[in-house]
Amino acid sequence: MPPHADVLLWEHLPFPKSLRDFQRLFKDDDACARYLEGAKWPKGFVCPHCEEKGEPVRVTTRPGVLACRKCRKQTSLTVGTVMQRTHTPLTVWFWAAYLVSSMTPGMSAVQFQRQLGLSRYETAFQILHKLRAGMVRQGRDRIGGNLGRGDHVEVDETYIGGAVRGEGRGPKPDDSVLVCAAVEVRTRPPKKGDKPERRGGRYAGRLRLEIATNRSAKALCGFVEQAVEPGAMVITDAAPAYNGLGKLGYAHLPVVEAGDPKVAEEFLPIVHLVFSNLKAWLQGTHHGRVEPQHLQAYLNEFTFRFNRRFYPFNAFRSLLGIGTNGEGPTYDGIYQGTWKHPTMESHHD
Ligand SMILES: [Zn+2]
Repeated sequence: MPPHADVLLWEHLPFPKSLRDFQRLFKDDDACARYLEGAKWPKGFVCPHCEEKGEPVRVTTRPGVLACRKCRKQTSLTVGTVMQRTHTPLTVWFWAAYLVSSMTPGMSAVQFQRQLGLSRYETAFQILHKLRAGMVRQGRDRIGGNLGRGDHVEVDETYIGGAVRGEGRGPKPDDSVLVCAAVEVRTRPPKKGDKPERRGGRYAGRLRLEIATNRSAKALCGFVEQAVEPGAMVITDAAPAYNGLGKLGYAHLPVVEAGDPKVAEEFLPIVHLVFSNLKAWLQGTHHGRVEPQHLQAYLNEFTFRFNRRFYPFNAFRSLLGIGTNGEGPTYDGIYQGTWKHPTMESHHD
């Protein structure tokens, strides 16, 4: 998977590959406004009041507003986005979303204020809060619905937080929270003449993370039911709590570890990698001190970035609420190559 696959699909809306690119592309509010316009009307402006097509009237002092040539009514470019009705310049929003989506996960409001050069802490806090809200709202669709041959979903659970350093198997440490993960494991089709790839060309697809109340069959099978499409092959460890998955319609493959951690490492490598990344992130940015009542929001934030890591542009647009009119490519669309880029003609300067 090339890291910027979606850029090819959205070539009419280029995405910066570096900070320098970013600053060049979004150098002022006018440039940001043009970007919003292109996302909203890929084939050129259409007046939402009278449906007149063609070049709108631009107000140089208000780059976020377009006026219709025919009916003269104004249209705001930020309607339906997170930027709607704020007085913060578009450049600040764009820069903020770029930082949050791709650069510095878990940045504090103070660091954020400094990076954005904002005079007021409250502004930084509000922007950060609004962008985070976009990560916490999660699509509740299930993963594993369109896997290729040999692809599957790894499911496992771990304890997060608490005072005890040990992890996983042992007795429940104080204040810790049980977290379940389901992650798609996909395989890159080998290209002719290629050397065999590391991990057999396997890589992670989409992820779901949920807090669970305990390790009962009800809790663990319940998690799988709401996270994974029935019919998918699901690999778990040999915990009896997962025994019901076959009856629930999954192709269940329990791996008997027999106390050997290397066995789990071999058969559940991706989900273990996810857990160690998640713990490192919580440790690094929240110093491991996450209140249990806030943990699910952090899990969603982690999942948001994880599921869009090949598509920073999607994360950026999704956080700002750009292109939510259903014309954008979905993750699966890009993945399967079924999504077709709308034909672009005009609207370039
Ligand atoms: Zn009009």
